[in-house]
Amino acid sequence: MFFADYHMHTHLSMDGDADTREMIKAAAAAGLSEIAICDHCDLNLMEQFPYSPKECFEDYTAAAAGIDIPVKIGVEMGQQTEFPKLSKEILSFPEYDFVIGSYHCMAGYPDFSEADYKNYDVPRLYSIYFDGLLDYAKNADFDIMGHLTYPFRYGMRQGYSLTIADYKEETDEVLKALIARGKGIEANTSGLRDKMKETMPPTYVLKRYLELGGEFITVGSDAHFPHHVGVGIKETTQLLKELGFKYVSAFTKRKAEMKKL
Ligand SMILES: [Zn+2]
Ligand SMILES: [Zn+2]
Repeated sequence: MFFADYHMHTHLSMDGDADTREMIKAAAAAGLSEIAICDHCDLNLMEQFPYSPKECFEDYTAAAAGIDIPVKIGVEMGQQTEFPKLSKEILSFPEYDFVIGSYHCMAGYPDFSEADYKNYDVPRLYSIYFDGLLDYAKNADFDIMGHLTYPFRYGMRQGYSLTIADYKEETDEVLKALIARGKGIEANTSGLRDKMKETMPPTYVLKRYLELGGEFITVGSDAHFPHHVGVGIKETTQLLKELGFKYVSAFTKRKAEMKKL
């Protein structure tokens, strides 16, 4: 079966310092078929991203030399709907294989990972999030939407019990918008390592995407350390098959290839 880890970070992300070659070696040692390195590029925080797409490409390519695993050139881009021109400019780099679109925060709000939820009316915060997420699904330029359920992870860490299950209609709208544009979702396995103990998004959302006619899905660990590379990938890929997915997607120069499960 095709076991690919399509979401990981290196020292080129502001929240990571992993050696790129160590990440790639860990992927090969885990017996993965392929990986995509997707360092952060949050368009509202460009001062934290001193590396150009070309520098990332050169770093990944040099680090992969001699290691027997295909390495795709990805990026995890955030806040594209807020900065469409900048998004377009960066994504004009021709070597990108794969783009994760991640809505990490609303305009004027902190990244959910840094938000103090006490400062907000949390149900209202989530409702504003879904409005923005729907706009992102309809308008941003990406291949796969990153970690649906992101704000719930941090809400849960701070003791708030609402989950994505409380937003079924809103989630459906987002999934339908993605499907209408031929866009995918990811099963992000970092949630399995977190308090929520489930993929992001959880199983029933993955299933719902399929039921509504969705075709494109990747699995990613969101690893920031070599020891997280590949964690949960095989189990989650197997789970997708059990849910009825016939394929996972791989990407080359932003074109999907369907890999049979
Ligand atoms: Zn992210
Ligand atoms: Zn990430």
